[in-house]
Amino acid sequence: MVKLFRGKKVRELNRDSHVSLGGVYLIGGLFCMLMIVLIAVQMNVRYSLRETSIGLEEKERLIRLKEEAGKRENRGAKILLVSEEDDATSTKAFKIFSVILDQMKEPYDVIEPADFDIADFDRYETIILAITHYPLLTSNISYLKGWVRDGGNLMIAYPPEGSGSFQTLYELLGIKDSGEVTYVKGVHFNKPFMIGGSLKDYDIIDAYESSLGLSLYDDCDVYMQSDDDYPVPLIWRRNVGSGTVVFDNFGIMEKAYRGIHCAAFSLLSDYCVYPVINGSAFYIDDFPAPVPEGDATYITRDYNISVSDFYSRIWWTDIHELAKEYGIRYTGLVIENYNDQVSGEFKRNTETNRFLYFGNMILKLGGEIGIHGYNHMPLVLENFDYKDQYDSYIQWPSTEDMRNSLDEVFDFTHNLFKDQELKVYVPPSNVLSEEGRSLLADTSISSIASVYLSTDMAYEQEFDISTEDGIINTPRITSGCIIDEYMELAALSELNFHFVNTHFIHPDDVLDEDRGAEIGWERMYGNLKGYMKWLHEGCPDIRNLTGSELAGAVLRYDLLGLDRTDTDNGVELDINGYDDEAWMLLRINDGRKISAVKGGEYKEAAENLYLIECRNESVEIVFE
Ligand SMILES: [Zn+2]
Repeated sequence: MVKLFRGKKVRELNRDSHVSLGGVYLIGGLFCMLMIVLIAVQMNVRYSLRETSIGLEEKERLIRLKEEAGKRENRGAKILLVSEEDDATSTKAFKIFSVILDQMKEPYDVIEPADFDIADFDRYETIILAITHYPLLTSNISYLKGWVRDGGNLMIAYPPEGSGSFQTLYELLGIKDSGEVTYVKGVHFNKPFMIGGSLKDYDIIDAYESSLGLSLYDDCDVYMQSDDDYPVPLIWRRNVGSGTVVFDNFGIMEKAYRGIHCAAFSLLSDYCVYPVINGSAFYIDDFPAPVPEGDATYITRDYNISVSDFYSRIWWTDIHELAKEYGIRYTGLVIENYNDQVSGEFKRNTETNRFLYFGNMILKLGGEIGIHGYNHMPLVLENFDYKDQYDSYIQWPSTEDMRNSLDEVFDFTHNLFKDQELKVYVPPSNVLSEEGRSLLADTSISSIASVYLSTDMAYEQEFDISTEDGIINTPRITSGCIIDEYMELAALSELNFHFVNTHFIHPDDVLDEDRGAEIGWERMYGNLKGYMKWLHEGCPDIRNLTGSELAGAVLRYDLLGLDRTDTDNGVELDINGYDDEAWMLLRINDGRKISAVKGGEYKEAAENLYLIECRNESVEIVFE
């Protein structure tokens, strides 16, 4: 800022070289005064909290608000989800689609195929068939064609078992011919309908025979297909009479791909609108913390300097640069000590220079300091089973010992960063017990960021408020510097489902061969930079938030309920539980464009997909 100002001033002085000496003194004097003001402003800004509009609430109040939101009546579901309780695939699909609909705030009824009755069809606008055995629908299936033609919307949630009954739907679904189930090793987006989707093709790392090989009529709009030479259509849409049909032939029902199924669902009907979080947060593991231990082989190989120097001179400079370039506001997680003490008196770490230096740099970037632990021992008691996976970890003998260690690290961190309220907690190694969590509930922690995608014993979360303790769950979706295709697709999926990005950076990746140390920091940094570039190119309007700001955004999102009412030429949104902001994604499928948003703003997020900022509890979207 100061530098820029100087440059400008020099140019002005050159231009004004003919003015009198008095004028030069006057300008010089003004310049000095401005410099003093600028420095003073910067000093004041340096250690204080950034004013944030996305504030938090007391945990007690959040429990109450969440309970009230849960009691909100289901005002006449217009979506029917058909699911087979006794079928494993159908159950898996139910788990995916019920969460998608819940979080899109779309009320729905669920029935078994045996209860599928044409007499009920008129009550619904949309039917999702998430079943394997179509013969269970009996002769009722023959009425579906007429129902769609008259304006109904039908979604096939996954490719079912082949049957004569299913084949009777081929004409309606636009299927010319079908073959065997097939293995999809990668996906290609034919249309840029998903955020981030048009940037490249994506490999499917956990692929299996999940899709149906088939050919379609020309009037089907294919949105996603396999990236083979003879592509398999994976998501398509077809207009039939005044209704629509969507076939989701992707078939893999995993949490990491929810956003793909959500996007397929959103292609039904004339439009689809749903609330989103709108936030991007980057967390830095063990930072600030003492100099990490590990294998310094590759740092010595590439830089020939100490680990400590590497972090301050190379690593932080690069990480800092990324924040500047993309406006990222890191949340650093403090570890006071790398010892393995779990009882007795927890001694204060007096070596604070590193903490102060890095911590203040994070704050200066508009970031936040959170808590990781007194040491790196996860908050679990002796009743917890590590299944021989973490040999070096020791359980805590009592809750009292865990509490004492937390008291110490909170006090330590408070002393270093006096204006920071410590609101964010990340569990070491993503392991956390209920006992540990209830201790955190008694502290200033209002948000816990563990993992979104489950692994073994990891503490898995959704983006929501817990009714148990009022703490906001803000899981991290992706991590590290080796960003593989699975991670990229999971990130893409969440941008489209929740319009959220949460990434975890481990400073000690460079010391760990399993996490890619061998390729060297320069390439690791290149990967991380590539990820940020991908994110910001695909999604330039996402908000850069700190951990607790993201929690504020999740809080608002989670408490929302949404009523959608068609108007003459648009839709009216009535947002229940509106506080001070709400964000929506709106997909328009019938070719219309937005002409105005009354009570809000809008921006294009992908083809026919808009990000709507709602500034009022009632918002009207008017189409052209
Ligand atoms: Zn850690």
